[in-house]
Amino acid sequence: MDLFEYQGKQFFASFGIPVSAGGVADTVEEAVAAAEAAGYPVVVKAQVQVGGRGKAGGVKLANNVDEVRLHAGNILGLDIKGHVVKRLWVEHASDIAEEYYASFTLDRSAKKHLGMLSAEGGVEIEQVAVENADAIAKIWIDPVDGLSDAQARGWVAAAKLNPEATEGAVDILKLLYTAYTEGDADLAEIDPLILTPTGQVHALDAKVTLDNNAEYRHEWDEYEATQERDSREQAAYEADLQYVGLEGSVGIIANGAGLAMSTLDVVNQCGGTAANFLDVGGGADAKKFVNALSIIDNDPRVKSIFINIFGGITRGEEVANGIVTALGQIDISSPIVIRLDGTNADEGRAILEPHLSDRLRMEPTMLDAARAVVELANA
Ligand code: GDP
Ligand code: MN
Repeated sequence: MDLFEYQGKQFFASFGIPVSAGGVADTVEEAVAAAEAAGYPVVVKAQVQVGGRGKAGGVKLANNVDEVRLHAGNILGLDIKGHVVKRLWVEHASDIAEEYYASFTLDRSAKKHLGMLSAEGGVEIEQVAVENADAIAKIWIDPVDGLSDAQARGWVAAAKLNPEATEGAVDILKLLYTAYTEGDADLAEIDPLILTPTGQVHALDAKVTLDNNAEYRHEWDEYEATQERDSREQAAYEADLQYVGLEGSVGIIANGAGLAMSTLDVVNQCGGTAANFLDVGGGADAKKFVNALSIIDNDPRVKSIFINIFGGITRGEEVANGIVTALGQIDISSPIVIRLDGTNADEGRAILEPHLSDRLRMEPTMLDAARAVVELANA
């Protein structure tokens, strides 16, 4: 789950990382109130989950109430890379001597946490990585050992920050590591991390992705409430389905995340494009298929539907019964192609057989089914 900047800053502040005083605002008048409370000058910042807000005109300095009104009015409703601004964050403006970049994320292949620190912050870090990779100091941290003081110091030295920033940077990086690990984040990024003319080090932006699997041990209801989902994703969320909306024309239902991913690949391989990722999970509950099929069929992009099932603990005939029951309860407008394999596949296929038609086809292999469903989508 991705957080908005203001939530990321709340998250950081709860671990002791210094951020600027400020408040959220959904209207111009609320922005004025937040500015008065934070103290002028202030920065008025668009709250959208996309980078490069500054360049897009979504971050503006305001010295007085008139400027707050002007900028808040302009930024609310602004479209930044397809994200319409509905909320602002207004904070006391900082004086900046230097802008740095700092982040922690997981390096899955190294099985370690990866810390990245650069004296060239404030600009797109992807650009720094391409044009001047040496400017990013990386460290790999064993989660069992954690980040030691000595390691943090060596890392800051390697990044060649201004010596004045050393103490403050070491402190913040250690706090950021704690926030990232104890807070169960997959990503914790500060860009820019600033050095002020008076030698303070301070987080000016916050990008945080939390690990949804850790939700049970945190109070994340407020973050959850503001999650941005399209209507398809919202319906899937309410039905407790693992769904990701995509832009293609083949609707996909598979049991298991790995199978769902390879289904996307094989559809691509056959010249089609997936309209979604959907993992119905284990079990063969007809209700799940009703929900999954309805969400996919309501998507105007979808031209054909691929149900790809590999029976495991849930046996083929149970899944087949679930699908048949579901299809008896709802009308689906797009043609469906089923591939059923794995445990008790023959029994499952026998159950589906009498229901087959032009609208409901069955193919013996995943590749055959992919070819058929792509042909239907492109017809
Ligand atoms: P982003 O463009 O979406 O990454 O938004 P940021 O929060 O990183 O802000 C973009 C840029 O605006 C920063 O790199 C700063 O240069 C500038 N900026 C943001 N807040 C302040 C502030 O308090 N004072 C000053 N002087 N500049 C700021
Ligand atoms: Mn930024």
